[in-house]
Amino acid sequence: MNFPLQIDRLKDMSITVVGMGISGLAAAELLHKSGAEVFVTEFGERSKFIDAIKFLDDLKIPYETDGHTEALKKKADFIVISPGIAPETEILKNFRANKLDMVAEVEVASWFFDGICIAISGSNGKTTVVQWITHILKSAGINAVAAGNVGYPFSNAVMSETPFTHVVLELSSYQLHSIASLKPEVAALLNVSADHLQWHGGFENYFNDKIRISEYQSKNDFLVLPGWDQILIQATTTAKSKVLKVGLNENPENTVQVVDEIIWLSVDSKWERIAAVRELPIPGRHNVENALFTITACSRVGLSIAQIRRGLLSFKGVPHRLEMVANDGRQWISDSKSTNVDSLRVALEATERPIWLIAGGRDKGAPFKPVENLVQEKVERILTIGEAASRIDAELNHCTGIIHCENLQTAVGYAHANAPEKTAILLSPGCASFDQFSSFFERGEIFKTLVKQAVRS
Ligand code: ADP
Repeated sequence: MNFPLQIDRLKDMSITVVGMGISGLAAAELLHKSGAEVFVTEFGERSKFIDAIKFLDDLKIPYETDGHTEALKKKADFIVISPGIAPETEILKNFRANKLDMVAEVEVASWFFDGICIAISGSNGKTTVVQWITHILKSAGINAVAAGNVGYPFSNAVMSETPFTHVVLELSSYQLHSIASLKPEVAALLNVSADHLQWHGGFENYFNDKIRISEYQSKNDFLVLPGWDQILIQATTTAKSKVLKVGLNENPENTVQVVDEIIWLSVDSKWERIAAVRELPIPGRHNVENALFTITACSRVGLSIAQIRRGLLSFKGVPHRLEMVANDGRQWISDSKSTNVDSLRVALEATERPIWLIAGGRDKGAPFKPVENLVQEKVERILTIGEAASRIDAELNHCTGIIHCENLQTAVGYAHANAPEKTAILLSPGCASFDQFSSFFERGEIFKTLVKQAVRS
C-alpha cells in the first residue's frame, strides 16, 4: 500500500487497531469518523479497560479484549499499532507473516493534517523541548498544540473543532518504528542514549528507529542535530533534508551556539543575540542544550527574535523534571521523569548543592557506571527504592553511603529526619516506575505529597 493514504479511500477499508490505550482509541475514533470499518483488539483483561470499552460502545466500534482471536480471523486492509506493543509480539509477527502493512497512530493522524509539523525525538528532553516550543509558538499568538507522546494523541489534535496551524509532536522510538510517510517540516533529534533496549531488541535497532524521524523529509525540510554528536551526524548523512547543527561551542557550522555563556542564532549569515544562559528559566546544562533545539525550531517556522526570546524566557518548565517541590532549608526536588541513567546523570550535574539522592525502581539493564564519578563527587547518600536497589548497591556502594529504604515513604521519612541543612534531596530514580507505581507521574505526585506532609510536620 502507498502512504500517505488519501483519506477519502478510508471509507472503503477495514482496519484493525491493536491496543486500547489512548492512542489506539484516538486512531479508532478518527478512522471510524472517516467511514472506515474499524475493529480494536486488546490482549489485556477486560476489567482493566472499562472506560475504553464504554468509549468504543458509545461510538459503536467493535472490539475484543483478553487476546487477539477475532483479529487474527478478520480481513484488514492495514493495521494500526499502539506504541506499547513490541515488534516481536506474536500478533505483530503474525500480521507481518501475512504481509499486512502496520502503521503507527501518529502516521494515520498525519494524513489528516496540513499545517506545519515540528517533530522531536531523542532519549531525553523530548517533553521539555516540545512544551518549550509550543509555549513560544502560543506566546506568539499561533494556534499550536503539543501532541504525540506527551499524552495527547495526534489523532485527537486533528479532530479538534478549531484546526491547529502548528503541531509540535513528541515522537518515541516506538512510534518512529512504524511511520510510513510522516514528514515533519522541522525534525529534531536531541540525543540517543541506551533506553528501551528490550523493546527494540538492542541498541542498534533503537538507534535506527530514532533516525527514521528524517526518513520522509525532503530538501525543503530541516533536521536539527547536536553538533557534538558525531555518531548521530554520521548516521544521518543520507537525510534529504537540510541538516542544522546546534552547539555548546563556537563553530561556523552551527545555526545556534553558545559563546561566553551567550546564546546566538544565525539569521541570514548574521549572528543575533538571543539570551544569556543565566537568563534561562530552567536549570542545568542539559536545558541549555534543550534551549538550542527549541530556538532553532522556532526560527525555522518563521518566528522573530523578539517572539522567540519572549517565549523562551517566560517558560515555566514541566512538572517532575527537576521541579523544586519544597524548601525547608533543604531543597526537595522531583525529577521523577528520570527513568534512565543518562537523565540521572544530568540531574546530578544540574544540582549545585550536596545531594541526598533517592534512586531505584524497575531496572532497565543499563549500567550505573556513567554516574560513578558524579556520585563520588556530589552525592552524600543514596536512598534506594524498588527493584533496582541491589544493582545500585553493587555498582555504586564504593562511591557513597547507601541506605536501602524499599519505598518512597521510607526514603522521604529518612531524608527528612537525617539530611542536613543546605542539601538537595533529589528524587531522580534513573529507573522506570512500574515496579511500585503506575507511571513516573504518579511516583512524582506521591513524592510531592509525602514531602509536603513531612516539611509541614
Ligand atoms: P523525555 O520526554 O525525552 O523523557 P523530558 O523532558 O521529560 O524528556 O525529561 C526526562 C528526563 O531527562 C528528566 O529527568 C530531565 O531532567 C532529563 N533531561 C532533560 N533534557 C535532557 C537532555 N537534553 N539530556 C539529558 N537529559 C535530559
